[in-house]
Amino acid sequence: MLPQRADTREYETTLPLAKRDRIRAAALAATPWWYSEWGHLAFPSVVGIGLIAASIALLDKPTALDLLSVPVVLFLVNINEWHIHRNILHARTWPLEILFWRHTPEHHVIFVRDDMAMRSTREFRLVLIPFYGILAIFVSSLPITAALWFLVSHNVALLWVACTMGYTVAYEWLHLSYHLPESNPIARSAPIRVLRRHHAMHHTPELMQRWNFNVTVPLADWLLGTVYREPAVSERAVAPEGRRRLRSGSSA
Ligand SMILES: [Zn+2]
Ligand SMILES: [Zn+2]
Repeated sequence: MLPQRADTREYETTLPLAKRDRIRAAALAATPWWYSEWGHLAFPSVVGIGLIAASIALLDKPTALDLLSVPVVLFLVNINEWHIHRNILHARTWPLEILFWRHTPEHHVIFVRDDMAMRSTREFRLVLIPFYGILAIFVSSLPITAALWFLVSHNVALLWVACTMGYTVAYEWLHLSYHLPESNPIARSAPIRVLRRHHAMHHTPELMQRWNFNVTVPLADWLLGTVYREPAVSERAVAPEGRRRLRSGSSA
């Protein structure tokens, strides 16, 4: 039997700032005493980059065909990112309910489209996946690694590890950069501004269950038709007062 999708309607409206602030304060108050935000940021990067370096060091004269597996894996992982975000982070799915609780009622309620920025580094915890997530991804994908190692080639198995770890680290860095204050130089760079806009749209509570599930490159969103396109002004349901202003050409 398929897991039932959780009823998320209560999270699908933008709450007033005071209420979001209370939820934010409660989430931060639940931070364990041993938590280190810089440790949280560094651990997946060190593990991921370490595994990428080890995988590349173990490659044995990879052929062009071996290297072709890199774009194929990155494409498949992009589709998987879309699937996990839509069906695990936005739907309560046993045994990974914790990911839903951290994402939909917490991350999405605290950070909304017009208020995306973290207020301090303590809020890394509200954005990054749990610190052990990268190890969980490495371990849970070991059956695929083993299948590639024994059935395809050692090089393809090593490139698979390098790609999945690289993708996970990129996901974390990109997601964190979208939630930096807009004045931050990283947030102001052109590629981050474009990707941030895509993710900020997903942070509109009314849209989050249906649109813009890619956090990295919105390839799967584009292929699966889930890129949200804002209606043109003329198509929007404009309130009568606004319609009068539009007709009269007034911008005030
Ligand atoms: Zn986010
Ligand atoms: Zn989401």
